[in-house]
Amino acid sequence: MMSVMFIDLDRFKDVNDTLGHEVGDELLKTAGKRLLHAVRDSDTVARLGGDEFAVILEGLADAGLTEVVAQKINDSFSKSFQIMEYQVDCGLSLGASIYPLDADNPEDLLRFADMAMYAVKEGGRNGYKLYSADMNKEVEARVQLARELYDALEADHLYLSYQPQMDLHTGEVRCAEALLRWKHPKKGMISPADFVPAAESAGLMGRLGEWVLRQCCLQVAAWDKAGVPPVVVAANLSAHQLRSNKLVATMKTLLEETGADANQIEMELSENVAMARADDVAEQFDQLTALGIGVSIDDFGTGYSSLTYLKKFPIRKIKIDGSFVADLGENDDDNAIVRAVIALAKTLELKVLAEGVETQQQLDILRKEGCDMYQGYLFSHPISPDELAELAKSPPLMTAQGAVAD
Ligand code: C2E
Ligand code: CA
Ligand code: CA
Repeated sequence: MMSVMFIDLDRFKDVNDTLGHEVGDELLKTAGKRLLHAVRDSDTVARLGGDEFAVILEGLADAGLTEVVAQKINDSFSKSFQIMEYQVDCGLSLGASIYPLDADNPEDLLRFADMAMYAVKEGGRNGYKLYSADMNKEVEARVQLARELYDALEADHLYLSYQPQMDLHTGEVRCAEALLRWKHPKKGMISPADFVPAAESAGLMGRLGEWVLRQCCLQVAAWDKAGVPPVVVAANLSAHQLRSNKLVATMKTLLEETGADANQIEMELSENVAMARADDVAEQFDQLTALGIGVSIDDFGTGYSSLTYLKKFPIRKIKIDGSFVADLGENDDDNAIVRAVIALAKTLELKVLAEGVETQQQLDILRKEGCDMYQGYLFSHPISPDELAELAKSPPLMTAQGAVAD
């Protein structure tokens, strides 16, 4: 029995970019030594290129040893590296496959180890995973979905729905979230929760994300032309769009091409993504804000909810994740969390919106706690641009006390 491991250093590029190639080279050498140290003399450690390494463990007495060694390697990277005068933290992503359990030929063993490593990266890096047959099925299903998505983009089977956000102070709708919709000719409606991750792993999210942003700009400009009162459209951003570092330039071009008012564009970034890339996110957010584009933190409460980034980023709005809203009034913990987030937002002078509001009871509590806005099926599902325009044109839909006006 033997196993193959694929190892990729996390954020090696950042080390190279910020501390220079000399430090990068030294880090590779030291990382190689740590790998050698974690395995037996009879095992093989190789550098495949760049920051990628491979390990072959031979003559294993049982399959469980693969995990033992993976854990050992992972542990050996948890200590910082002392490289010249720098202390460098460098985790790794490790994927492993086992002969003959997973495959009986070198090609598949390598492919499966790579797949497992990819799964680690997708799960937020830093760790290890052993290949499992589910991974293969999952990847195949995703590849298939991504292929169809690519065709959908060409064939115009995608569109945006707009979910209105109700302002609890004025009773007006002045914002809407743009949500991606895919009408598959055979499978019917496919949820973005299913296809966005597939698009992300297939490298399609750059194109798809740009398509969404363009649609948002076109929509804003079209409403403006039709005399609809200004509505801010919030687009969801994916991790890829921030990673590519093209977002600001793209937005500049799109605003120019479509004539959309930057003040009517907002971007939602999930808390987890914002946290994971805090430094380059902060810089891009500053530039977007300078253009007039607002930024909001989505799914707030599901990540680390670090106060540091709330201070660091030029944020306009916090969106409380629907999972906390769902049990509002029934679950004391959720009540406390929602109350605390609203208070936090007030202190930091940020707008706070509650997502996924479905019942009057939830709304009453949110209003009592001083929440600024809400979004959810109670008020409206995502709707078409024409329906949203009608809402924007209508007089306040709620009175200050909260009763829905006739
Ligand atoms: P999200 O950004 O948290 O979006 C909110 C989701 O909650 C939407 O699902 C919305 O339809 C749903 N929702 C709204 N009101 C309620 C309610 O009262 N109760 C419940 N249970 N759900 C409600 P949807 O449209 O299926 O989107 C799912 C996720 O897909 C989004 O979560 C977002 O992360 C992602 N997504 C959607 N459009 C895009 C896009 O254009 N780009 C990117 N990158 N991601 C997108
Ligand atoms: Ca969102
Ligand atoms: Ca959300």
